[in-house]
Amino acid sequence: MPLPVAPASSRCAPGPSIASTIRETARSFTDKEIIPAAKENARNAHFDTDLVKKIADQGYLGAIVPRDYGGAGLDYITYGLIVEEIGRGDSAMRTVVSVQTSLVCSSIVRWGTEEQKQRWLPRLCSGESLGCFGLTEPDTGSDAANLRTRATKTDSGWSISGQKMWISLGNFSEVALIFAQTDPEKKHRGLACFLVPTASEGFSAQEIHGKLGLRSSDTASLALDEVEVGDDAMLGEIGDGFKVAMSALDNGRYSVAAGCVGICDGCVDASVAYAKERKQFGVPLARFQLVQEMIADMILKRDASRMLVYRAGALKDEGKPNTTETSVAKLYATESAVECANLAIQVHGGAGYVDDYPVERYLRDARVTTLYEGTSQIQKLIIGRAATGINAMLPFEES
Ligand SMILES: Cc1cc2nc3c(=O)[nH]c(=O)nc-3n(C[C@H](O)[C@H](O)[C@H](O)COP(=O)(O)OP(=O)(O)OC[C@H]3O[C@@H](n4cnc5c(N)ncnc54)[C@H](O)[C@@H]3O)c2cc1C
Repeated sequence: MPLPVAPASSRCAPGPSIASTIRETARSFTDKEIIPAAKENARNAHFDTDLVKKIADQGYLGAIVPRDYGGAGLDYITYGLIVEEIGRGDSAMRTVVSVQTSLVCSSIVRWGTEEQKQRWLPRLCSGESLGCFGLTEPDTGSDAANLRTRATKTDSGWSISGQKMWISLGNFSEVALIFAQTDPEKKHRGLACFLVPTASEGFSAQEIHGKLGLRSSDTASLALDEVEVGDDAMLGEIGDGFKVAMSALDNGRYSVAAGCVGICDGCVDASVAYAKERKQFGVPLARFQLVQEMIADMILKRDASRMLVYRAGALKDEGKPNTTETSVAKLYATESAVECANLAIQVHGGAGYVDDYPVERYLRDARVTTLYEGTSQIQKLIIGRAATGINAMLPFEES
Protein backbone atom coordinates (compact mmCIF):
# COMPACT_ATOMS: atom_id res chain seq x y z
CA MET A 1 0.00 0.00 0.00
CA PRO A 2 1.70 3.24 -1.10
CA LEU A 3 1.87 6.20 1.25
CA PRO A 4 -1.29 8.23 1.74
CA VAL A 5 -0.58 11.78 0.70
CA ALA A 6 -1.06 14.76 2.97
CA PRO A 7 -4.06 16.98 2.23
CA ALA A 8 -2.11 20.24 1.82
CA SER A 9 0.68 21.40 -0.45
CA SER A 10 3.00 21.92 2.48
CA ARG A 11 4.18 19.25 4.94
CA CYS A 12 1.75 18.15 7.59
CA ALA A 13 1.35 15.56 10.31
CA PRO A 14 -1.15 12.89 9.30
CA GLY A 15 -2.44 12.32 12.86
CA PRO A 16 -1.45 9.55 15.27
CA SER A 17 -3.56 6.75 13.82
CA ILE A 18 -2.51 7.39 10.23
CA ALA A 19 1.14 7.76 11.32
CA SER A 20 0.88 4.39 13.02
CA THR A 21 -0.67 2.86 9.88
CA ILE A 22 2.16 4.33 7.82
CA ARG A 23 4.64 2.78 10.22
CA GLU A 24 2.93 -0.62 10.10
CA THR A 25 2.88 -0.47 6.31
CA ALA A 26 6.58 0.39 6.21
CA ARG A 27 7.22 -2.47 8.64
CA SER A 28 5.42 -5.06 6.59
CA PHE A 29 6.93 -3.72 3.35
CA THR A 30 10.37 -4.08 4.94
CA ASP A 31 9.60 -7.62 6.14
CA LYS A 32 8.21 -8.66 2.77
CA GLU A 33 10.50 -6.90 0.29
CA ILE A 34 13.67 -5.62 1.91
CA ILE A 35 14.71 -8.24 4.47
CA PRO A 36 14.46 -11.26 2.12
CA ALA A 37 16.82 -9.55 -0.36
CA ALA A 38 19.31 -8.05 2.11
CA LYS A 39 21.64 -11.00 2.66
CA GLU A 40 22.18 -11.93 -0.99
CA ASN A 41 22.48 -8.30 -2.07
CA ALA A 42 25.17 -7.74 0.57
CA ARG A 43 26.97 -10.97 -0.39
CA ASN A 44 26.99 -10.00 -4.05
CA ALA A 45 27.60 -6.28 -3.43
CA HIS A 46 24.55 -5.78 -5.65
CA PHE A 47 22.89 -2.38 -5.78
CA ASP A 48 19.30 -3.56 -6.20
CA THR A 49 17.64 -1.05 -8.51
CA ASP A 50 14.46 -3.16 -8.71
CA LEU A 51 14.11 -2.86 -4.95
CA VAL A 52 14.82 0.87 -5.14
CA LYS A 53 11.92 1.14 -7.61
CA LYS A 54 9.62 -0.71 -5.18
CA ILE A 55 10.67 1.67 -2.40
CA ALA A 56 9.93 4.61 -4.70
CA ASP A 57 6.54 3.15 -5.61
CA GLN A 58 5.69 3.13 -1.90
CA GLY A 59 6.31 6.89 -1.87
CA TYR A 60 9.30 6.56 0.44
CA LEU A 61 11.69 8.64 -1.69
CA GLY A 62 9.60 11.78 -1.41
CA ALA A 63 7.87 11.41 1.93
CA ILE A 64 8.68 14.94 3.14
CA VAL A 65 8.51 16.63 -0.25
CA PRO A 66 5.36 18.77 -0.76
CA ARG A 67 2.65 17.15 -2.88
CA ASP A 68 2.90 19.89 -5.51
CA TYR A 69 6.26 18.43 -6.47
CA GLY A 70 5.34 14.77 -6.40
CA GLY A 71 6.01 14.01 -2.73
CA ALA A 72 3.70 12.80 0.02
CA GLY A 73 3.96 16.00 2.07
CA LEU A 74 4.44 14.20 5.36
CA ASP A 75 5.99 15.58 8.54
CA TYR A 76 9.46 14.65 9.80
CA ILE A 77 8.31 12.42 12.63
CA THR A 78 6.32 10.21 10.26
CA TYR A 79 9.22 10.23 7.80
CA GLY A 80 11.50 9.13 10.67
CA LEU A 81 9.19 6.17 11.37
CA ILE A 82 9.47 5.02 7.75
CA VAL A 83 13.25 5.42 7.76
CA GLU A 84 13.52 3.51 11.03
CA GLU A 85 11.69 0.54 9.52
CA ILE A 86 13.76 0.54 6.34
CA GLY A 87 16.92 0.85 8.47
CA ARG A 88 15.85 -2.23 10.42
CA GLY A 89 15.71 -4.10 7.12
CA ASP A 90 18.80 -2.94 5.27
CA SER A 91 20.99 0.12 5.80
CA ALA A 92 22.02 0.08 2.14
CA MET A 93 18.40 0.73 1.14
CA ARG A 94 18.00 3.19 4.02
CA THR A 95 20.99 5.06 2.59
CA VAL A 96 19.12 5.41 -0.72
CA VAL A 97 16.15 6.95 1.11
CA SER A 98 18.36 9.22 3.23
CA VAL A 99 20.45 10.52 0.34
CA GLN A 100 17.60 10.94 -2.12
CA THR A 101 15.08 12.42 0.31
CA SER A 102 17.03 14.19 3.02
CA LEU A 103 20.14 15.37 1.21
CA VAL A 104 18.99 15.90 -2.37
CA CYS A 105 15.22 16.54 -2.38
CA SER A 106 15.24 18.57 0.85
CA SER A 107 17.97 20.83 -0.53
CA ILE A 108 16.01 21.46 -3.71
CA VAL A 109 12.82 22.12 -1.71
CA ARG A 110 14.66 24.54 0.59
CA TRP A 111 16.95 26.31 -1.90
CA GLY A 112 15.63 25.60 -5.40
CA THR A 113 13.93 27.98 -7.81
CA GLU A 114 10.43 27.05 -8.96
CA GLU A 115 11.92 25.85 -12.23
CA GLN A 116 14.50 23.66 -10.48
CA LYS A 117 11.80 22.17 -8.24
CA GLN A 118 9.52 21.40 -11.19
CA ARG A 119 12.37 19.95 -13.20
CA TRP A 120 13.87 17.61 -10.60
CA LEU A 121 11.57 16.86 -7.67
CA PRO A 122 8.81 14.84 -9.42
CA ARG A 123 11.45 12.62 -11.06
CA LEU A 124 13.31 12.13 -7.79
CA CYS A 125 10.18 11.41 -5.74
CA SER A 126 8.93 8.83 -8.23
CA GLY A 127 12.31 7.13 -8.41
CA GLU A 128 12.52 7.81 -12.15
CA SER A 129 15.84 9.48 -11.33
CA LEU A 130 18.26 9.18 -8.47
CA GLY A 131 20.28 12.08 -7.13
CA CYS A 132 23.54 12.21 -5.23
CA PHE A 133 25.20 14.67 -2.86
CA GLY A 134 28.75 15.62 -3.83
CA LEU A 135 30.40 17.36 -0.92
CA THR A 136 33.34 15.17 0.19
CA GLU A 137 36.58 15.21 -1.81
CA PRO A 138 39.78 13.15 -1.66
CA ASP A 139 41.46 15.86 0.45
CA THR A 140 38.39 17.37 2.08
CA GLY A 141 36.12 15.50 4.48
CA SER A 142 35.29 16.97 7.89
CA ASP A 143 36.71 20.33 6.80
CA ALA A 144 33.97 20.71 4.22
CA ALA A 145 34.43 24.46 3.74
CA ASN A 146 37.92 23.85 2.39
CA LEU A 147 36.94 22.00 -0.74
CA ARG A 148 38.97 22.24 -3.93
CA THR A 149 36.47 21.71 -6.71
CA ARG A 150 36.43 24.96 -8.69
CA ALA A 151 33.55 26.66 -10.47
CA THR A 152 34.74 29.30 -12.96
CA LYS A 153 32.37 31.82 -14.49
CA THR A 154 31.90 31.58 -18.26
CA ASP A 155 29.83 33.70 -20.64
CA SER A 156 26.89 31.30 -20.46
CA GLY A 157 27.20 29.90 -16.96
CA TRP A 158 29.88 27.96 -15.07
CA SER A 159 32.68 25.53 -15.78
CA ILE A 160 33.25 23.04 -12.93
CA SER A 161 36.39 20.95 -12.39
CA GLY A 162 37.37 18.75 -9.47
CA GLN A 163 36.93 15.41 -7.77
CA LYS A 164 34.42 14.04 -5.29
CA MET A 165 34.92 11.01 -3.09
CA TRP A 166 32.66 8.50 -1.32
CA ILE A 167 29.53 9.69 -3.10
CA SER A 168 26.54 7.44 -2.38
CA LEU A 169 24.43 6.62 -5.47
CA GLY A 170 27.04 8.38 -7.62
CA ASN A 171 27.08 5.70 -10.35
CA PHE A 172 23.29 5.62 -10.71
CA SER A 173 22.30 9.27 -10.36
CA GLU A 174 20.89 11.48 -13.05
CA VAL A 175 21.69 14.63 -11.10
CA ALA A 176 24.47 15.44 -8.68
CA LEU A 177 24.55 18.26 -6.16
CA ILE A 178 28.10 19.48 -6.61
CA PHE A 179 29.63 21.86 -4.09
CA ALA A 180 32.35 24.02 -5.59
CA GLN A 181 34.47 27.04 -4.77
CA THR A 182 33.84 30.11 -6.92
CA ASP A 183 36.48 32.30 -5.27
CA PRO A 184 39.12 30.68 -3.02
CA GLU A 185 39.92 34.01 -1.34
CA LYS A 186 36.41 34.15 0.06
CA LYS A 187 36.79 30.70 1.68
CA HIS A 188 33.40 29.31 2.72
CA ARG A 189 31.69 32.51 1.55
CA GLY A 190 32.76 31.65 -2.00
CA LEU A 191 31.13 28.22 -2.04
CA ALA A 192 28.21 27.45 -4.32
CA CYS A 193 26.10 24.39 -4.99
CA PHE A 194 25.18 23.28 -8.52
CA LEU A 195 22.61 20.81 -9.84
CA VAL A 196 24.76 19.01 -12.38
CA PRO A 197 23.21 16.49 -14.80
CA THR A 198 25.54 13.50 -14.68
CA ALA A 199 25.21 13.02 -18.46
CA SER A 200 27.10 16.32 -18.92
CA GLU A 201 30.27 16.16 -20.96
CA GLY A 202 33.30 15.89 -18.69
CA PHE A 203 31.40 14.19 -15.83
CA SER A 204 32.41 10.65 -14.89
CA ALA A 205 31.78 8.27 -11.99
CA GLN A 206 33.68 5.23 -10.78
CA GLU A 207 32.55 2.56 -8.36
CA ILE A 208 34.38 2.21 -5.04
CA HIS A 209 34.85 -1.45 -4.10
CA GLY A 210 35.83 -3.29 -0.93
CA LYS A 211 33.69 -1.55 1.70
CA LEU A 212 33.43 -3.08 5.19
CA GLY A 213 29.65 -2.67 5.16
CA LEU A 214 26.89 -1.10 3.07
CA ARG A 215 28.10 -3.52 0.43
CA SER A 216 24.90 -3.36 -1.55
CA SER A 217 24.89 0.43 -1.51
CA ASP A 218 26.45 2.23 -4.46
CA THR A 219 29.46 4.39 -3.61
CA ALA A 220 31.40 6.36 -6.21
CA SER A 221 34.23 8.70 -6.84
CA LEU A 222 33.27 11.47 -9.25
CA ALA A 223 35.46 13.43 -11.63
CA LEU A 224 34.41 16.71 -13.21
CA ASP A 225 36.57 17.94 -16.05
CA GLU A 226 35.42 21.39 -17.18
CA VAL A 227 31.76 20.43 -16.89
CA GLU A 228 29.65 23.25 -18.34
CA VAL A 229 26.37 24.21 -16.64
CA GLY A 230 24.11 27.22 -17.04
CA ASP A 231 23.53 29.91 -14.43
CA ASP A 232 20.20 28.22 -13.77
CA ALA A 233 22.03 25.17 -12.36
CA MET A 234 23.06 27.04 -9.21
CA LEU A 235 21.11 26.07 -6.10
CA GLY A 236 20.82 29.26 -4.04
CA GLU A 237 23.23 32.11 -4.65
CA ILE A 238 27.01 32.35 -4.87
CA GLY A 239 28.17 32.03 -1.29
CA ASP A 240 25.17 29.92 -0.22
CA GLY A 241 26.98 26.64 -0.85
CA PHE A 242 28.06 26.12 2.73
CA LYS A 243 24.58 26.92 4.04
CA VAL A 244 23.04 24.52 1.50
CA ALA A 245 25.43 21.79 2.67
CA MET A 246 24.78 22.40 6.37
CA SER A 247 20.99 22.51 5.96
CA ALA A 248 21.15 19.29 3.94
CA LEU A 249 23.24 17.64 6.64
CA ASP A 250 20.75 18.71 9.31
CA ASN A 251 18.19 16.67 7.38
CA GLY A 252 20.53 13.86 6.46
CA ARG A 253 21.74 13.33 10.03
CA TYR A 254 18.15 13.02 11.21
CA SER A 255 17.55 10.31 8.65
CA VAL A 256 20.77 8.45 9.54
CA ALA A 257 19.80 8.59 13.22
CA ALA A 258 16.31 7.22 12.48
CA GLY A 259 17.84 4.41 10.42
CA CYS A 260 20.11 3.57 13.35
CA VAL A 261 17.11 3.24 15.67
CA GLY A 262 16.02 0.59 13.17
CA ILE A 263 19.36 -1.21 13.47
CA CYS A 264 19.05 -1.20 17.28
CA ASP A 265 15.49 -2.53 16.97
CA GLY A 266 16.60 -5.27 14.61
CA CYS A 267 19.35 -6.25 17.05
CA VAL A 268 16.82 -6.53 19.88
CA ASP A 269 14.40 -8.62 17.79
CA ALA A 270 17.11 -10.96 16.53
CA SER A 271 18.67 -11.36 19.98
CA VAL A 272 15.39 -12.02 21.79
CA ALA A 273 14.38 -14.63 19.21
CA TYR A 274 17.77 -16.34 19.32
CA ALA A 275 18.04 -16.26 23.11
CA LYS A 276 14.63 -17.95 23.44
CA GLU A 277 15.40 -20.62 20.87
CA ARG A 278 19.03 -21.57 21.57
CA LYS A 279 19.66 -23.80 24.58
CA GLN A 280 22.84 -24.16 26.63
CA PHE A 281 23.21 -25.93 29.97
CA GLY A 282 19.76 -27.37 29.30
CA VAL A 283 17.90 -24.06 29.23
CA PRO A 284 17.28 -21.26 26.69
CA LEU A 285 19.97 -18.55 26.70
CA ALA A 286 17.22 -16.13 27.72
CA ARG A 287 17.23 -17.75 31.17
CA PHE A 288 20.72 -16.39 31.88
CA GLN A 289 20.84 -13.03 33.61
CA LEU A 290 23.99 -12.00 31.75
CA VAL A 291 22.22 -12.59 28.43
CA GLN A 292 19.18 -10.61 29.60
CA GLU A 293 21.54 -7.82 30.62
CA MET A 294 22.82 -7.58 27.05
CA ILE A 295 19.26 -7.46 25.74
CA ALA A 296 18.28 -4.83 28.31
CA ASP A 297 21.28 -2.71 27.31
CA MET A 298 20.19 -2.86 23.69
CA ILE A 299 16.63 -1.87 24.56
CA LEU A 300 17.90 1.06 26.61
CA LYS A 301 19.99 2.33 23.71
CA ARG A 302 17.22 1.76 21.16
CA ASP A 303 14.58 3.57 23.21
CA ALA A 304 16.83 6.50 24.16
CA SER A 305 17.91 6.87 20.51
CA ARG A 306 14.29 6.81 19.39
CA MET A 307 13.32 9.54 21.86
CA LEU A 308 16.21 11.72 20.68
CA VAL A 309 15.13 11.22 17.07
CA TYR A 310 11.54 12.13 17.99
CA ARG A 311 12.75 15.28 19.74
CA ALA A 312 14.74 16.39 16.69
CA GLY A 313 11.82 15.51 14.40
CA ALA A 314 9.36 17.47 16.53
CA LEU A 315 11.59 20.55 16.38
CA LYS A 316 11.87 20.21 12.62
CA ASP A 317 8.10 19.91 12.32
CA GLU A 318 7.66 23.03 14.44
CA GLY A 319 10.18 24.88 12.26
CA LYS A 320 12.43 25.51 15.26
CA PRO A 321 16.26 25.44 15.27
CA ASN A 322 17.40 21.85 15.68
CA THR A 323 21.02 21.54 14.59
CA THR A 324 22.27 20.66 18.08
CA GLU A 325 19.40 18.29 18.85
CA THR A 326 19.89 16.61 15.48
CA SER A 327 23.60 16.17 16.21
CA VAL A 328 22.77 14.73 19.65
CA ALA A 329 20.37 12.25 18.01
CA LYS A 330 22.86 11.37 15.28
CA LEU A 331 25.74 10.91 17.69
CA TYR A 332 23.81 8.82 20.18
CA ALA A 333 21.84 6.71 17.70
CA THR A 334 24.82 5.88 15.48
CA GLU A 335 27.10 4.95 18.38
CA SER A 336 24.21 2.95 19.89
CA ALA A 337 23.71 1.06 16.63
CA VAL A 338 27.37 -0.02 16.67
CA GLU A 339 27.12 -1.04 20.34
CA CYS A 340 23.81 -2.89 19.86
CA ALA A 341 25.12 -4.77 16.84
CA ASN A 342 28.20 -5.77 18.80
CA LEU A 343 26.06 -6.96 21.71
CA ALA A 344 23.71 -8.80 19.35
CA ILE A 345 26.65 -10.76 17.93
CA GLN A 346 27.65 -11.60 21.50
CA VAL A 347 24.18 -12.95 22.25
CA HIS A 348 24.36 -15.10 19.11
CA GLY A 349 27.81 -16.47 19.94
CA GLY A 350 29.62 -17.99 16.94
CA ALA A 351 26.37 -18.02 14.96
CA GLY A 352 26.42 -14.23 15.02
CA TYR A 353 29.69 -14.16 13.14
CA VAL A 354 28.28 -15.43 9.84
CA ASP A 355 25.48 -14.09 7.69
CA ASP A 356 22.89 -16.76 8.54
CA TYR A 357 21.67 -14.14 11.01
CA PRO A 358 21.42 -10.41 10.25
CA VAL A 359 23.55 -9.24 13.18
CA GLU A 360 26.98 -9.37 11.52
CA ARG A 361 25.58 -7.20 8.70
CA TYR A 362 24.10 -4.84 11.29
CA LEU A 363 27.57 -4.34 12.74
CA ARG A 364 29.30 -3.84 9.40
CA ASP A 365 26.56 -1.48 8.19
CA ALA A 366 26.31 0.46 11.45
CA ARG A 367 30.02 1.20 11.42
CA VAL A 368 29.85 3.79 8.65
CA THR A 369 27.10 5.76 10.35
CA THR A 370 29.55 7.17 12.90
CA LEU A 371 31.63 8.40 9.97
CA TYR A 372 29.40 9.77 7.24
CA GLU A 373 27.34 12.96 7.39
CA GLY A 374 29.83 14.20 9.99
CA THR A 375 31.87 11.87 12.20
CA SER A 376 31.03 11.38 15.88
CA GLN A 377 33.87 13.77 16.72
CA ILE A 378 32.32 16.45 14.50
CA GLN A 379 28.92 15.93 16.17
CA LYS A 380 30.58 16.40 19.58
CA LEU A 381 32.19 19.60 18.37
CA ILE A 382 28.82 20.90 17.15
CA ILE A 383 27.24 20.05 20.52
CA GLY A 384 30.18 21.55 22.42
CA ARG A 385 30.07 24.72 20.31
CA ALA A 386 26.39 25.19 21.11
CA ALA A 387 27.05 24.70 24.81
CA THR A 388 30.12 26.93 25.14
CA GLY A 389 29.89 29.36 22.26
CA ILE A 390 33.45 28.32 21.31
CA ASN A 391 34.17 26.68 17.98
CA ALA A 392 36.73 23.97 18.72
CA MET A 393 36.62 22.67 15.13
CA LEU A 394 39.17 25.31 14.14
CA PRO A 395 41.83 24.76 16.79
CA PHE A 396 43.85 27.91 16.03
CA GLU A 397 41.15 30.40 15.12
CA GLU A 398 38.53 32.39 16.91
CA SER A 399 34.93 31.10 16.75
C1 LIG B 1 30.13 4.56 2.55
C2 LIG B 1 30.28 6.05 2.58
C3 LIG B 1 29.32 6.84 1.95
C4 LIG B 1 29.46 8.23 1.92
N1 LIG B 1 28.53 8.98 1.23
C5 LIG B 1 28.79 10.31 1.04
C6 LIG B 1 27.95 11.10 0.17
O1 LIG B 1 26.95 10.61 -0.39
N2 LIG B 1 28.29 12.40 -0.05
C7 LIG B 1 29.38 12.98 0.52
O2 LIG B 1 29.63 14.15 0.25
N3 LIG B 1 30.18 12.26 1.37
C8 LIG B 1 29.91 10.95 1.62
N4 LIG B 1 30.73 10.21 2.45
C9 LIG B 1 31.90 10.86 3.04
C10 LIG B 1 31.77 11.07 4.53
O3 LIG B 1 30.81 12.05 4.80
C11 LIG B 1 33.17 11.42 5.06
O4 LIG B 1 33.92 10.22 5.01
C12 LIG B 1 33.13 12.00 6.46
O5 LIG B 1 32.58 13.28 6.44
C13 LIG B 1 34.53 12.09 7.11
O6 LIG B 1 35.44 12.69 6.25
P1 LIG B 1 36.85 11.94 5.96
O7 LIG B 1 36.54 10.55 5.59
O8 LIG B 1 37.60 12.78 4.99
O9 LIG B 1 37.59 11.91 7.36
P2 LIG B 1 38.52 13.07 7.98
O10 LIG B 1 37.81 14.38 7.93
O11 LIG B 1 39.87 12.99 7.38
O12 LIG B 1 38.58 12.62 9.50
C14 LIG B 1 39.45 11.58 9.96
C15 LIG B 1 39.37 11.55 11.50
O13 LIG B 1 39.78 12.82 12.04
C16 LIG B 1 38.76 13.35 12.87
N5 LIG B 1 38.70 14.81 12.74
C17 LIG B 1 38.67 15.54 11.60
N6 LIG B 1 38.59 16.86 11.89
C18 LIG B 1 38.55 16.94 13.25
C19 LIG B 1 38.45 18.02 14.18
N7 LIG B 1 38.33 19.30 13.80
N8 LIG B 1 38.43 17.73 15.50
C20 LIG B 1 38.51 16.45 15.93
N9 LIG B 1 38.60 15.39 15.10
C21 LIG B 1 38.61 15.64 13.78
C22 LIG B 1 37.47 12.71 12.35
O14 LIG B 1 36.45 12.71 13.33
C23 LIG B 1 37.96 11.29 12.01
O15 LIG B 1 38.02 10.54 13.18
C24 LIG B 1 30.58 8.82 2.55
C25 LIG B 1 31.51 8.02 3.21
C26 LIG B 1 31.39 6.67 3.23
C27 LIG B 1 32.45 5.84 3.90
